[in-house]
Amino acid sequence: MAKKVCLIHTGGTIGMAGTEHGYAPRRGFLQSTLAGIQELNSEEVPAFDLIEYDNLLDSSNISVREWVRIAQDIADRYEQYDGFVILHGTDTMAYTASALSFMLEGLAKPVILTGAQIPLYEVRSDGRNNLITSLMIAGNCHVPEVCIFFGSGLYRGNRATKVSADELTAFESPNYPALGESGVGITINQGALRKAGTGLRLSKFEPQQIAVLKIFPGMQFEMIENILTADLKGIVFEAFGSGNVPEDRGTLKRVLKKAEKNGTVIVVCTQCLRGSAVIGQYKTSMSFAEAGAVSGYDMTVEAAVTKLYYLLSRNYDLDTIKKLMVTDLRGEMTVH
Ligand code: ASP
Repeated sequence: MAKKVCLIHTGGTIGMAGTEHGYAPRRGFLQSTLAGIQELNSEEVPAFDLIEYDNLLDSSNISVREWVRIAQDIADRYEQYDGFVILHGTDTMAYTASALSFMLEGLAKPVILTGAQIPLYEVRSDGRNNLITSLMIAGNCHVPEVCIFFGSGLYRGNRATKVSADELTAFESPNYPALGESGVGITINQGALRKAGTGLRLSKFEPQQIAVLKIFPGMQFEMIENILTADLKGIVFEAFGSGNVPEDRGTLKRVLKKAEKNGTVIVVCTQCLRGSAVIGQYKTSMSFAEAGAVSGYDMTVEAAVTKLYYLLSRNYDLDTIKKLMVTDLRGEMTVH
């Protein structure tokens, strides 16, 4: 049977038009641009239905509400299509991909996010290749995962991160091999894929108070005291190297203790592009250890944040959340 893909347009550079204030999304503009791309009529490219959101967004404006909408739209149409392609801005694409990976449990079909650094209507747009290749993978390949395809790489969504604001290879998967590559042909790295799920279950996120904090030398930890309230449900620290922080005069220990008492989940990731944060490897991670923080290991910050959304939205107790934070749920972390 002929393959069919559902193409969901959420916004982002790929479908933007030029305006006097710079690139901005415009309703109907993508559809008219697509009509001029002859390659989309080729037999090699699967047929697709386009769903364009009313409120097209620069992905800087994407929030939990849109994540849930995308997940729901996929779940509602899951049986009708062979795969899904989500057109999305690059700025927060890795967050949305991670969020979808947690919300869509038991996935057995490809869900591929893609976009462009140059809008489709421009002569040098990278969007044409990104879109066509994503449609071909979504329609024809066995990839039971939420992925990002960009440039020439297919990456696990919750392992990917945006590494360049202007290069056409904008994403990398620093701690996990690419799931595929498009060169002269399209190759899928079968050994790196997750097993197909046996039935889709949608786990919707709810808005949560979560913070991300990057450590830097000379940081005065008094200033974070005000954000560590009882309302803060989770905090992700981007620590030095393998999970280290300055051994200050005890302020950090004090404020982290306060967070622990409040029941805030404290997660420690590394600010390095590659490698793992492991609490206990160095004495300079002891402030975290004493406050009951959990290691984020080699998770991206995007994965850590969206995993917090996922676990907090399921209303687990604190111990369960901490246990699951260090458990690999969707291929987002390397288990130690
Ligand atoms: N600001 C744009 C967005 O994220 C950038 C892009 O799409 O590449 O929507």
